[in-house]
Formats: sequence, structure tokens, C-alpha cells
Amino acid sequence: MNTQILNMDPKNIPFAAELLKKGEIVAIPTETVYGLAGNGLSADAVKKIFEAKGRPSDNPLILHISSVDWLYRYAENVPDLALRLAERFWPGPLTMIMPKKSIVPMETSGGLDTVAFRMPNNQWTLKLIEACDFPLAAPSANLSGLPSPTRAGYVYNDMEGKIPLIIDGGQCFYGLESTVITFTDNGVRILRPGGVTAEMLKRFCFVEIDKAVTESLQNGDKVLSPGMKYKHYSPKAEVFMVKCNDNESFADFVNKNFDENTIVLAKKADNIKAKTLPYGKTARQEAEKLFASLRKADEMGAKKIYVQAPNKEGIGLAVYNRLIRAAAFKVIEL
Ligand code: AMP
Ligand code: MG
Repeated sequence: MNTQILNMDPKNIPFAAELLKKGEIVAIPTETVYGLAGNGLSADAVKKIFEAKGRPSDNPLILHISSVDWLYRYAENVPDLALRLAERFWPGPLTMIMPKKSIVPMETSGGLDTVAFRMPNNQWTLKLIEACDFPLAAPSANLSGLPSPTRAGYVYNDMEGKIPLIIDGGQCFYGLESTVITFTDNGVRILRPGGVTAEMLKRFCFVEIDKAVTESLQNGDKVLSPGMKYKHYSPKAEVFMVKCNDNESFADFVNKNFDENTIVLAKKADNIKAKTLPYGKTARQEAEKLFASLRKADEMGAKKIYVQAPNKEGIGLAVYNRLIRAAAFKVIEL
């Protein structure tokens, strides 16, 4: 199959919608990461998504919708709190899980009787969803296990020959996937942290953070978010998360432990003798750059990547969550 790349131009919406209506899958830009979209109500289209990604079939997909009303088409019970959060955070990087109606196939929900919803903050993509008039199931547009793509070129690297169309919307604003929440008796539980932070949600309700966000699952732990089970977001090189109190001790550690195949992601590169790649001084910058720099390190032939641990406040918790999985929980504490 030939994989075409087209710009995020409104005149390309009818062509993308036509492919999706025929049951094809199309890579689309969003403000989080690129998505691999298909008709979320079609078991066949959804199977194509799992196949193209090599994704385990029990890892459920998120339905992307263009209007809050659509919740009533596809969810059995819509909590009042969901409407308040949608009003404040949609379109945006917040995914909410609710009991599903039977019109949503089990293939989409990974066999669960709940389904996840999000309204992406990208006008082109919202118009595409409207043109389709069905929700788009869209996981990140990478091969399962690799870092999520934050640019169309990275989608092409993973999906060339497997899908007919990639829509290029430039660099993604957040660079990390959405925050995923479920509803509890008195508020919400964060299953995956993202751009809508715990601090932001706390203004609306009681917020719990699932243990799996920062820790590895132990045998016997109940898995609330199947995506958290897998080693994830990893480049080919071995990644280590390095926890330290300041930039100087991180630089000292790297300077004593690097070789020519080491690449470093540091908050401050000045005193580091190893090759470094763009990362950030703030958590927002770290979020934007993490996946792109992990992919870049592979392109440069890295064998080992040392990444300075982010601080866990705000969107930093999301960076921490992705990084510790990319590192398969290998943490060095200085
Ligand atoms: P991705 O599509 O790559 O952004 O991953 C979607 C994430 O949402 C995964 O971590 C899933 O485990 C989680 N998710 C989606 N639907 C559900 C659901 N019904 N219950 C729990 N987690 C879900
Ligand atoms: Mg993903």
C-alpha cells in the first residue's frame, strides 16, 4: 500500500472522511500526539488499527468525538461531573471512561463494558469527525511499544505501507498522550496522567492517582487501565531514569559513566561531556520533547540513554509516568 502524506488543509477533509467511511485507517494530528484513526463503531476498522500497530487486543481504544452530545449516543450513564469537566477541559487532553452502550463493539473497548471518550483540540480533526458522523477510535500512531509520534515523519517511519494516508499537522502541542480518568463515588481517579493535571482536576472534585501511574504493577495487582501493563514508549536503546537533587550531581554522574554510544537528556547541558539532545527546563518543555528525543537518540545509534528525572508536579507527573515505562522501571538514584 502506498502511504500518502497530505497537509492539514480543510480541502483534504472530504478525502480523509471518504477513506474512513470505507473502513480504512488514517493517521491524524491532535494536540497530544498523532492518532491512528478508524471508525470506532466498526469492529473491522478497529481490527485494522490493532494490526497496523501490533497492539495487544485487550488494550482498549479511545473514542474521539466532536460534540459533548455524542456521549449520550455511546455511553450508558453520563455522570454530571463528566459534563462539568467536559465544559471546562474539552476540547483538550482529558479522556473520560464511562459504561458503554452496545453500539460500541467489544473490539474497541478491548473486551471491557466501559469505553473512553475525548474531544481533541484540533479544529481540522474535529471537522473530520463531524464529516464522518461517527466517533474515531484513535490510539497513538506508533508501532506498539515505541515512543508515540509527535510529528508526521515519525508516523511515516512506523506506518509506511500499512495505511493509505497521514495528515501532517506539524509538531504536537503537548507531545504526550491525554490524561485518562475514571469516576469514583466522590470524584475521579487518574489512570494515566497528561496535560490536564491532578492540580487542575482538584478544583472540581476529589482526585485519586492510581498506584500504577508511578509504580510497576506487582503480580496480583488489579489492572484498571490495560495500557499500563505493558513496557511502553521505549526506543531501541536502553533507557535509565536518573533521580538526583540538582543539575550538578546529574552532570557528575553522566561524566563518570558515559561512552561514545551514550545520549543524555538533561535539564541543563552546559557541563555534560556526553552527547545531549533537546529536553527541557520546564515540565511543559520536557513533555513536548521527550518522545521526539528518544526517537532521535535511536536514529543516532544510541545504546544507552540517561534521562534526568522530571519533578512530579503538574504535567511533570505525565513525563515521569512515560519515562519510567520507557526505562522499563530502571531507575538510578544518586
Ligand atoms: P492510547 O490509545 O495509546 O492513547 O492508549 C489509551 C489508554 O487509555 C490506554 O492506557 C488504555 O488502557 C486506556 N483506556 C482506554 N479505554 C479504557 C477503558 N475502558 N478502561 C480503562 N482504561 C482505558
Ligand atoms: Mg499509545
